[in-house]
Amino acid sequence: MYILFEGIDRVGKSTQIALLQKTFPHAIFTKEPGGTPLGKKIRELILHTQNPSTIAELFLFLADRAEHIEKVIIPNKDKLIISDRGFISGIAYAKTKTSMSIEKLQELNAIALQNTYPDKIVFLEISPQELERRLSTQPLDNIEQRGIKYLLEVQEIMKNLVIHSKIAYLILDAAASKEKIFEKIVQFIKEK
Ligand code: C5P
Repeated sequence: MYILFEGIDRVGKSTQIALLQKTFPHAIFTKEPGGTPLGKKIRELILHTQNPSTIAELFLFLADRAEHIEKVIIPNKDKLIISDRGFISGIAYAKTKTSMSIEKLQELNAIALQNTYPDKIVFLEISPQELERRLSTQPLDNIEQRGIKYLLEVQEIMKNLVIHSKIAYLILDAAASKEKIFEKIVQFIKEK
């Protein structure tokens, strides 16, 4: 079972995934970008190239996704796989960075995904106030420097994609306590 964790920067995806590693020690924990050896190289290129062509960047993310799906997700679909980001991030960030339509981005992602979509999606949602508070606590990366308005726009696109994905989903308030969020996620993963 392939479970996708989604949400914008600072919602607490990594914190929850780290907690899950103790509860599901035999699961495969992975991420995009950077869940494979090739993906790690692509991640470095993405994170450390100043002002890339937005289309070039989109294809780098798609290349990472294609490699990840083929080398990590497809061969392990009978195990529990928990992935930090995937096609929802892929489409939402690209929608704000390029002039491509959601439909075109979905088509491109379908090629990278080889029809392998997650079985469940966990979406952590954050309020503008809580996001502002969290952004003020640490230095900002390239995406975070675009500001709250930008991140909230990405979040809105992500949420729409999740709700209309036809995939089972759980939307949680990122401001709730770590323990409460964790409890709900574990229950959702275990549900038939
Ligand atoms: O979550 P993670 O640290 O792996 O993401 C690295 C950066 O890449 C983040 O700032 C995130 O917002 C950005 N990103 C993106 N497009 C994606 C996935 C992540 O711009 N498809």
